[in-house]
Parts: sequence; structure tokens; C-alpha cells
Amino acid sequence: MCIDRPEHWLNRRQLLAGLTSGAALAGTSGCVATNAASGRDSFTGFRSIEDDIAEGRQNHPKILQSFGGAYDDPRLAGYVTKIGLGLAKQTEYQQYPYRFTILNTQIVNAFALPGGYVYITRGLLALASSEAELAGVLSHELAHVTARHGAERRTAQQVAQLGLLLGAVGLRAAGLPSDLMQIGQTAALAAIKGYSREHEFEADTLGIRYMSRAGYNADAMASFLGSLREHSKVEAQILGLPPGQVDEFNIMSTHPRTVERVRQAQQAASQGGGTGRLAADAYLNKIDGMMFGDDPKQGVVRGRKFIHPELRFEFEAPPGFRLRNSPSQVQGRHSPGVGMAFDMGQSKGARTATAYLRDVWAARARLRNVESLIIDGSDAATGWVEGRGKSGAANIRLLAIRRNSGKFYRFMYVSPTEQADRWAKPFRASGQSFRHISAATAAGVLAKRLLVVTARPDDSIAGLARTLPYGRLNEDWFRILNDLAPRQTIKAKQRLKVVAE
Ligand SMILES: [Zn+2]
Repeated sequence: MCIDRPEHWLNRRQLLAGLTSGAALAGTSGCVATNAASGRDSFTGFRSIEDDIAEGRQNHPKILQSFGGAYDDPRLAGYVTKIGLGLAKQTEYQQYPYRFTILNTQIVNAFALPGGYVYITRGLLALASSEAELAGVLSHELAHVTARHGAERRTAQQVAQLGLLLGAVGLRAAGLPSDLMQIGQTAALAAIKGYSREHEFEADTLGIRYMSRAGYNADAMASFLGSLREHSKVEAQILGLPPGQVDEFNIMSTHPRTVERVRQAQQAASQGGGTGRLAADAYLNKIDGMMFGDDPKQGVVRGRKFIHPELRFEFEAPPGFRLRNSPSQVQGRHSPGVGMAFDMGQSKGARTATAYLRDVWAARARLRNVESLIIDGSDAATGWVEGRGKSGAANIRLLAIRRNSGKFYRFMYVSPTEQADRWAKPFRASGQSFRHISAATAAGVLAKRLLVVTARPDDSIAGLARTLPYGRLNEDWFRILNDLAPRQTIKAKQRLKVVAE
């Protein structure tokens, strides 16, 4: 327990002045307490554990909304909760209402909200190969909760009065709503924003302590991190990102860690590896049959096409684009400075596409060459605005297509200004490819499933990797999925994860 300075110690004006000058407040006020997990004195401001719990409870629905909801599989959810609660028992804090949720998304990540809310994605579960690897991830997240990293981070932000916008895509245009220009600005995403390397090291050290106490082989934490790193490299290739860069939703971006640092953490926790259980078979039995990739309910990417069976439409990205379905929008990338985004906007009273474009979407931007169109029988409008990218002036083509229920489908196509002519036609063709699909076509879009099979003597990696949706990177993906090193072959009777249509 700590004693805060009474609030009247600073009058309101001084307090506000302190909030904006940051350091002044940090120096004069706040509460330092020793954390039972980390053993460190940590500055968590005026926040109590109850505040942590309230914050988690408040943000939980936002996380669900932003990440495709909870994956609907009570058996698997029960399994993850059982493992999670077993690990939570090993922590220094029993007063949190620990809660474990599988998020229904192909994104590979895990994170925690203050107060004991722990999340793991379906995409990450697919990559793990044993219960010990799952336990390693969950205990790392539990450590962020018990060491109160969220509270420390939050306090640091408040003190410095950051309130900074997140994850700018490196593009700005005066007057366009910022939600269009930036990825990952929601409150929920603020919660998963990256920790410092110090926090990560501490979470690994504590996580190794928790998983070892629960009887798991602590080597699994480092080995799984190795798989996650390999996966993030292949994913970057699929998305056309420069080498070394990872997608902003990936666990490698939100938890900056290296295998070497995890090994150091293992030493710091004085937990030699090699002992404890892995429980690989038990784990594979549980994930057998789990959905893999995009859930058709949220729309699926098939090559250059995006199909939304529930909303009954599809469109095609320009040649050379790689599409990805993310929580807030569909993003497409081609090369530095060339990309697209697709989402939906509320009409806010606009009756026509032209009115929407001019008065709502780009109300404060300098919109040029507005043109009214009919696309697939629907009222549509397009125009362009000038923006600024990392490498200079950018041309941003906007296209709005009216949907009947008070909403507009929105396309944004971006290219450097000097390439605008070259991209004019492909962008237009992509927008024009938008069409409604029949109930039969929609019904034909099925989820892929992860199946666990036993290798037969005549099985080959190329053959088994065939049904993955990643084209020339199928084999790389398959190796990561099954912990196979480059050139390593499969053994008869080996249990393998495959993807079925
Ligand atoms: Zn972390």
C-alpha cells in the first residue's frame, strides 16, 4: 500500500500545468510501490489494482469488436482457460479475475489488458505445437499483467501527455479523417501497442518462472519464439513488406523480443531447460479441426480477390497487389508508396455518393475532379486529393459506392504523384470490379480448417503444403507450421498440421 499525496496538494491549475510539462508531475507526485511479481519499485501513479481491473473490463468489448470476436469453440476455449488458470495460480497476484479469450482472427498475436484479461489469437494457436508453447505465451502475457506493465506504460504516457496517434501509415492529407489515413488507432489497439524491451525481458523472466512452476518445459518459450520470428518473416514476404519489417498487428511488433534475450531470461530465472512436460500430442488433439485463415463471416482474401459472403460482394485488387483482411479494413500493398484500403463508412445523412464524398468523407479536404458513376448498378462517386507520403507528394484516389442501408463502401487508392498516370487505369478497373455476388456464390466460400494427420510413406512436403493459401510460399509456411527446418524431411508416422478446404 502506498500513500498518495493529497489531491489538493496541487491545485487544478498546477496539476494541468504539470500534466503538460510531464516531468514536473513525475517529480512531484505519484506513488511508488514495490511490485510483488517483478520485485521492482514501480511508478504506477494513482492507479490501483482495482483501476487495472476496471480498465480491463471496460476495454474487453472493444478488443472483441476489433479482433473478430471470440472464436466460437467452447471445447478449445475451455482448454485454453484451463491451461491459463493453472498458470495464473503460480503468479504472485491472485486478486485478478483472470480471463482467457481466443480471438477469431488469423492475425498472429497475444496480449493482455490490465486487470487479468489475456487474449490469444486463433492464428497464434495454429503455429504452436505443444501445450508448453501455449503455456509460454500465456505466462508471458500473465507477467505483463502481474508486473503491471500496462499501468506503468499508461502512467508514462499520461505523465508525458503523449496521447500520440498510433501506427501512421506514413501518409497524410489535409482534411481527410484520420481514421482513414491511419491503421490501428482504436482504443483497443492502444492496449496492444508495444512494450519496452525491459518490460519484455521482465515478462519473459516471470513467464518462465510461472510455466516452470506449473510443470512445463521452459525451453518451449524460446523455441516457439523462434517459430514466431520465422513466421513473421514469411508473412512480411507475403505482404510485400521490406525485409526486417513486420506487420503492425504481429506479435513481433507488439512484443519486441529475441530468442537470445529469452534464453538470458531463462538464466535469470535460473530455470534450466530440458525438464518438465511439453504435451505435444494433447495439444495437437485439441487444435485438430480449428478454423484456419480468414473467417468467411469477416470476408476472405483469395488471391487478388476479396470476397465477403455475408455482405454479398467481391472486388479485385490491381495486378501485383497483395491483400490482407485486418480488423478495421482490407489493406492492399504493391510497393513503397503504392497501396489501397477498403472499408465501410456511415452515410451521416448523405443521400448520394457524390454528397457523401464531398460533404462527409472528404468534407475538409481539397477534393478534385469529382465524378459521379454507376458501379454494378449502384450510385458511386470518385475524386482525388493530394497527400504527403514518406517519399513526397502522393495522389489519393477516393471512391464511394452506396449501399442500401445507410452506409457507403469506400476505396482509397494511393500512389506517389509521379506515378499517378501509370496507376490511373488499374485503380479504376479495381474499383469497377466491385460487384454483388449471388447467394450460391456466397455459400461456396468455405472456411479452411487445420487438420492434424499422420504422415504416410508416400507423403511429400510439396503435396501436403498444396492446400495452404500462400502460393509460392506454401512450403515455407508448412515448415513453420510443423517445426521443420529448411531441407528437413518428414518421417513416416510423424503427426503433421495440414490445411483442408
Ligand atoms: Zn510482451
